[in-house]
Amino acid sequence: MNMSDPILVNVTEEIVRGLVSFLLRGPEYQTFCKCKTCELDTVALTLNALPSKYVTSMETRDDAFREMNTPESIERINKEIIHALHVVNKHPRHKIEPTS
Ligand SMILES: [Zn+2]
Repeated sequence: MNMSDPILVNVTEEIVRGLVSFLLRGPEYQTFCKCKTCELDTVALTLNALPSKYVTSMETRDDAFREMNTPESIERINKEIIHALHVVNKHPRHKIEPTS
């Protein structure tokens, strides 16, 4: 892809997807289901609680990413993710056996 090609990306989504995947595989959430349904439900719940940040170029994407990648901002996002992780863990929608 060319650097100047227009894109449509929610930078909040990018960050939340990465953090959910990271947290879910960490020691604190060992017993939580890691199936795609539960992972994406956690991402969706978190994103519904946070403001979206859409950008239309790789350049503005990098700027937005940098702005959002501060300790305060990550802490706020992590708080929403942890809340969502517990909601999904309590009310999983997967129809198969949980995976870990
Ligand atoms: Zn699951």
